[in-house]
Amino acid sequence: MEKFYTNTLVIGAGVVGLAIAKEISAKNRETIILEKEAKIGQITSSRNSGVIHAGIYYQSNSLKSKFCVEGNKLLYDYAKKFNVPFINTKKIIVATDESQMEKIFEIKKQATANGVEGLDILNQKQVNQLEPLIKSSGGLHVPSTGIIDQHSLMQSYLGEFENNGGMVSYNSIVKRISMHNKKFEIEVIDNEKNKTKIICDYLINAAGIFASDIANNIDGLDKQYVPNTYLAKGNYFSLNKKLPINHLIYPVPEKISLGIHLTLEIDKSIKFGPDAEWVDDPYDYSVNENLKSKFCHSINKYLPDISEEMLSPSYAGIRPITSKEDRVKRDFMISTVENHKIENLFNLYGIESPGLTSSLAIANYVTERL
Ligand SMILES: Cc1cc2nc3c(=O)[nH]c(=O)nc-3n(C[C@H](O)[C@H](O)[C@H](O)COP(=O)(O)OP(=O)(O)OC[C@H]3O[C@@H](n4cnc5c(N)ncnc54)[C@H](O)[C@@H]3O)c2cc1C
Repeated sequence: MEKFYTNTLVIGAGVVGLAIAKEISAKNRETIILEKEAKIGQITSSRNSGVIHAGIYYQSNSLKSKFCVEGNKLLYDYAKKFNVPFINTKKIIVATDESQMEKIFEIKKQATANGVEGLDILNQKQVNQLEPLIKSSGGLHVPSTGIIDQHSLMQSYLGEFENNGGMVSYNSIVKRISMHNKKFEIEVIDNEKNKTKIICDYLINAAGIFASDIANNIDGLDKQYVPNTYLAKGNYFSLNKKLPINHLIYPVPEKISLGIHLTLEIDKSIKFGPDAEWVDDPYDYSVNENLKSKFCHSINKYLPDISEEMLSPSYAGIRPITSKEDRVKRDFMISTVENHKIENLFNLYGIESPGLTSSLAIANYVTERL
């Protein structure tokens, strides 16, 4: 069996793995990414809303609030510097009836505590002036929300990584991982069932929805430190016509997800979603046409003129969830020696939304701790 050595090995070429590898390789460390797919970003990183979140909903002092608020600024700066297409669309969280205004005030309070700036409470007339098609009793204006072309972003991270001398090995499935003399030995299998062994000093597991599976295959890592990863699918429907809407429009959030919201693509076309549905199959990305009526019912609360015929099933993405508890209580988990007692091993669990927004902040956090 062929053997290779590298200083640092990252498992997963999604937006988070790429951001981390880019940052580490910039510190002159020899870094390889192993990716089981034939291209970068084929799993969750290309199946999301592409929203640059502001960081408003998360609990104070959580990793999500820290990374999202930091990551938001870092991402805008990065996109400007490296010409990644983005639009600072801004967003309005709308109260669909008067009773939800209380919730809007609570969201503003939490967001302000998290360090989100420039928030404004809007009355019905002000929402109407900004977005005449939207029906509401008022809302919260969030100026730091935007959208980004996630494919161009990942391509840019990859370019940086390769410029730093890094390499991605595609079609490379990580199997077992063992430890010898303080080094990790990773067994890798390719499409033709050829086996290779990679030896490294530092190992970063950024395998997204498969992160717990990878961790469970590390010999010597006590299973008590590996959380379950539950899968919550989010479906999207696209709108078959263009409408003059410029902000992202979000309802007041629900228990598992942020509610079926309206987001824009870079070309200003409109999509709705994601909803949230617990699933077992990590590869089932089909969107059930029958969800249309549920979507339409939710959308009509803030956009009354939409009918089912205007919606087409679009795509779906799957969230890695480490606890089925309330959405607000769930946090990212970056498990290090302090948690699992193995030096130089980083396991990233539950990197659901706002993982894209947080990618550069997560990369800095991991790199500082290497
Ligand atoms: C429906 C939905 C909407 C979202 N919307 C937003 C949003 O608007 N804004 C935002 O900030 N975030 C959003 N997110 C979250 C964001 O998409 C994720 O946090 C981010 O993409 C996670 O990136 P990742 O690199 O950790 O995971 P992934 O993109 O899943 O990458 C992990 C990689 O690891 C590889 N891998 C797995 N197992 C192995 C193995 N054994 N061997 C080799 N390679 C392996 C996979 O093939 C994959 O390429 C959303 C997520 C979902 C599901």
